[in-house]
Amino acid sequence: MGWSERQLALLREIGIRVWAPPRAGLDDACVTAPEPVPTSAPAPDAMRESGLAAAAPSVMLRPPPHAGPHPGAAALAALDWPALRDTVAACTACRLCEGRRQTVFGVGHQRAHWMIVGEAPGEQEDRQGEPFVGKAGQLLDAMLRAAGLGRSVPAGAAGDGDPASRVYIANVLKCRPPMNRNPAPDEVALCEPFLRRQIALVRPRVILAMGRYAVSSLLGSDAPIGRLRGRVHEVEGVPTVVTYHPAYLLRNPSDKARAWDDLCLALERLRVAPVRGGDPGAGAA
Ligand code: URA
Repeated sequence: MGWSERQLALLREIGIRVWAPPRAGLDDACVTAPEPVPTSAPAPDAMRESGLAAAAPSVMLRPPPHAGPHPGAAALAALDWPALRDTVAACTACRLCEGRRQTVFGVGHQRAHWMIVGEAPGEQEDRQGEPFVGKAGQLLDAMLRAAGLGRSVPAGAAGDGDPASRVYIANVLKCRPPMNRNPAPDEVALCEPFLRRQIALVRPRVILAMGRYAVSSLLGSDAPIGRLRGRVHEVEGVPTVVTYHPAYLLRNPSDKARAWDDLCLALERLRVAPVRGGDPGAGAA
C-alpha cells in the first residue's frame, strides 16, 4: 500500500509515523515505539480507558426483573445478518433497553478483513444508530484512513468495495449505558453472544480490540492494555491485536504513536497471514 499525500498529511496531523509497504529485500516496518516511561500517576479516566483501573464494581449476573428472554449463543449461531440485526433490535435482556433510543448494531463491510471492537454506544451513537460517530469515532476514522482502511465504500468503488480495505465496527454493548457509565458485567455477559455472532459472520482476518471492555469481553483478561498490546492474541481463531480506545487517545495524545504501532502490528500480521477461505485467491474453504 502506498501513501497518498493526503494520508501523509493526516498522519502528520495526528502525530503518528508511517507504515511502509514491503519492498523487495527490505522488511516493511512500523518503527517500534519506545517502551512507555511512566512519569506520574495516570488520571482516573485515563486509568479506566487504559485498563489500569480496578475492575468495575461487580453487579449481580441475574437479569433485572423486567428482562425479556435472551436467545442464547446456540440459537444465535443459526442467525444470518438480517435475523441477527432484528434480534439485537428487539433485545430486552438487560436494563439498558429501557434507556436506549435505538440499538447500535454495527457498521461496515460484512466480510471485511478487519473487525474493530469498541466498548458501547455514547449519546451520538444512540441518536444515530451507528458506532463511533462522535469525537472518538472521528479519531478512529482518521487512523483507519491513514492505514488505507475505512468503514464506508470509497468513492468510485464498485459494490461494497474491496473487503481488504474495509472494516466492520461493532461494540461490546449494543445499547448506550445511561450517563455513559461503564458497562456492567451482566450487561457485557448478555451482549457478548451478539458480538461473537458478528465475528462469526464477518470472519475477519484480524480483530482490533480497543480498550478495556473489548479486551475483557474478547480475551477474558483484566490486564492493563499496556501489558497486552504489542503481541498478537487470538479470538475465535482470529488474530487479535489489543490497542487503546480512541476516547483514551483523545485525552492522552502522547499514546497515539503506540496506537499507530498497534495498527501497524495488525497490518503486518495480515501481510503474513494466509488468506481466508472463500476469498478470491483462496483455495477451497
Ligand atoms: N462510540 C462507540 O460506538 N463505541 C465506543 O466504544 C466509544 C464511542
